[in-house]
Amino acid sequence: MIRVYEVTPRDGLQNEAVVVPTEAKVALVNRLVAAGYTDIEVTSFVRPSWIPQLADGPDVLRQLPRAPEGVRYWALIPNRRGLERALDTGVEHIATFMSASETHNRKNLNRTRRESLSNLEAVIGEAVAEGLTVRAYLSTVFGCPYEGTVDPAATVELAATLRSMGATEIALGDTTGMGNPAQVQRIVAMMTEAGIPVSELALHMHDTRGTALANYLAGYQAGIRVFDGSTAGVGGCPYAPGAAGNAASEDLIHMFEAMGITTNVDLDAAAETGVYLARVLGRELAGRYHRYHLGAASRKADKAARAARKAATA
Ligand code: MG
Repeated sequence: MIRVYEVTPRDGLQNEAVVVPTEAKVALVNRLVAAGYTDIEVTSFVRPSWIPQLADGPDVLRQLPRAPEGVRYWALIPNRRGLERALDTGVEHIATFMSASETHNRKNLNRTRRESLSNLEAVIGEAVAEGLTVRAYLSTVFGCPYEGTVDPAATVELAATLRSMGATEIALGDTTGMGNPAQVQRIVAMMTEAGIPVSELALHMHDTRGTALANYLAGYQAGIRVFDGSTAGVGGCPYAPGAAGNAASEDLIHMFEAMGITTNVDLDAAAETGVYLARVLGRELAGRYHRYHLGAASRKADKAARAARKAATA
């Protein structure tokens, strides 16, 4: 049994050119819940001027029905101000973020890693005091677009620090899709040696170079059971048309289910959510299973049309 942490409403939509209406976001989350996902990152509380696509975060949370038993809605939180706004909506599960590499952290967050840690100490401390669950993302764990190689020992230290602050899930992010399975094995081993239980680790891989599923399999073999995915692979790389972004939820559900490892997500319902999402976004999406699903549907329609023509001429 594995858990798929679905990031589409946040990580997927924040990279889209169009701003998806609040009702469509709520409908998307409802579809994800109906498909069987139990962990859904529904929005972020990053300053609206930075990410206008998610400016309606409070509305999304307020309009969502109460999460059914066993389902957790997560919100991405950058700082204390964001946490205050999120608390007003009654959020119970938050995700924080910083980078494993210094340069990416500075370019992305305008802070040193040390400054990020002191910001997160305040955010996580308050969140834990409020009884919230905290996931902490570490970006660029498997490579940095500015620095190249990232020191895994520094990543382990950051993970341990975030854990000591109260984060109970550390999501190791492959921001630019540079990771490989050997790296995944190595970093998980180093985390375990440092006393960080594998049950508190999650992987957030990008399929930029086609390695996301291989990395997830390596992660599974190393004991990880939480894998991030987005519907039809949206997000991750907004400016290259057709480029793969996040690992696609349907792809990883298909792979694990085919191996006999259950996800509790209905693959057909997940795939239909991809069809819905492509319609909402008005563009073709890159996910491999998504494309297979569309192909299978159109072959079925062709076959039905041929049969109808044959019956008409008979
Ligand atoms: Mg991502």
